[in-house]
Amino acid sequence: MKIQILAFLLLFAAVTVVAQEEPMEMKHEMTEVWDPEVAVVTPGETTADAPSDAIVLFDGVDLENEWTNGDGEQPGWIVADGCATVKKGTGIIKTKRVFNDFQLHIEWRTPAEATGKSQGRGNSGIFLQERYELQVLDNYENRTYRNGQAGSFYKQHPPLVNVCKKPGVWQTYDIIYTAPRYNNDGTFFTPPTATVLQNGVLVQNNVKMRGPTEFIGIPEYFVEKHGPASLVLQDHGNPVSYRNIWIREL
Ligand code: MG
Repeated sequence: MKIQILAFLLLFAAVTVVAQEEPMEMKHEMTEVWDPEVAVVTPGETTADAPSDAIVLFDGVDLENEWTNGDGEQPGWIVADGCATVKKGTGIIKTKRVFNDFQLHIEWRTPAEATGKSQGRGNSGIFLQERYELQVLDNYENRTYRNGQAGSFYKQHPPLVNVCKKPGVWQTYDIIYTAPRYNNDGTFFTPPTATVLQNGVLVQNNVKMRGPTEFIGIPEYFVEKHGPASLVLQDHGNPVSYRNIWIREL
């Protein structure tokens, strides 16, 4: 991208210099940029399927290929019927790989038998870079605080709409995440930002994280400078399932 911009500026400068010497007529090809050619990616059969340049983080069978538990050991979740389901008390699972900017596709399902209410119904979560929780919760006819429901960045940004499907039905998140950039003194140059579609509907539009997710208290903006980090899926005690997880590093 930088090369393209530089090439364009040089072209523009050259055209400007020539223009000063003698008036020159602009032609359409003068503003066409051909190189480097845009990389070719083969899309999946549907937008839910991994494109050719994606890393498949879970294919429905081998969770341990890409994931560990919180201690770096085998994940304790249940893998069956093409999905991984939270096994209460076994704790989080996290990716072995770490990421900066990415596009993530992930599918989730809350239990068909909806028990509990508010935060107690089908609670899990997707922590981007181990810190910023995109809430997973059954909010189909289940009210909770607006900045803690499905599609929210927990206690930071409520979703634009509630687009939850019924309990027991698979739902999708497509997440575009940009990691933080820092000044030399460790303060944010730009905080992390994210855009999220739930079931194809925009629920977060380029929102800025205020700091790592906090259950109690105000997120701290400058808690720590961090580099690439894992994706983490939360064990909140409810048997929430995940499948078809793929990521494209940006
Ligand atoms: Mg949660």
